[in-house]
Amino acid sequence: MSNMILIVEDEEAIRALIRFNLQAAGYTTCEAEDGLQALERAKTLKPDLILLDWMLPGLDGLGVLRRLHEHADTASIPVLMLTAKSEESDVVLGLEMGASDYVTKPFSNKVLIARIRALLRRGEEEAPEEYLRYAGLTLTPGQRRATLAGKEIPLTCGEFDLLYLLCAHPGHVYTRTQIVSRTKGDDYPVTDRAVDVTIVNLRRKLGTFGERLETVRGVGYRMRALSSLDPAY
Ligand code: CA
Repeated sequence: MSNMILIVEDEEAIRALIRFNLQAAGYTTCEAEDGLQALERAKTLKPDLILLDWMLPGLDGLGVLRRLHEHADTASIPVLMLTAKSEESDVVLGLEMGASDYVTKPFSNKVLIARIRALLRRGEEEAPEEYLRYAGLTLTPGQRRATLAGKEIPLTCGEFDLLYLLCAHPGHVYTRTQIVSRTKGDDYPVTDRAVDVTIVNLRRKLGTFGERLETVRGVGYRMRALSSLDPAY
């Protein structure tokens, strides 16, 4: 069964090009040319991934993203945003609103396919496990939701992904480069600084629990290995 991708793009020529490339890469495609049509198709067809153009007539990309997340049956579909270079503030907003990743126009077909593959792979890895538990922390990747001893911790996508990676392998040390490539795409610029900032934010948000996020000097970061003293949730 090939994965189905919903292409949301109002420009017919771009849509046709994306369709051609995705089908050549083995994906099944469906299309929408505006926001409302996108929502309707997402609900009825349940695509595995949505390619969402940000500048759409009527309901724009952000509006579509919001509404997708309001419905349980579309909330967990990964969304890859398509934005123009001048819309970089939209990218930040989109990622904060729950988009999984983005590609800037004009994009190369290779990059687009690589991002799609990475997102679908991520989804498959997460699928068998609806949530991950580490000590008193519960992480639900489908909703990018984190709770600590039952209390919700608001996290950005980047923070969630980093925390999820470390909690999935307690005791394992990840280098900053590994963290960047595992939580984003392979072709992102590696910024160690971004990882450090995310760690600082996570520690702050997690309070004393954040002490478990350990710095391994000269190597990277790890989540402290579980011990018999840890709460069994
Ligand atoms: Ca457009």
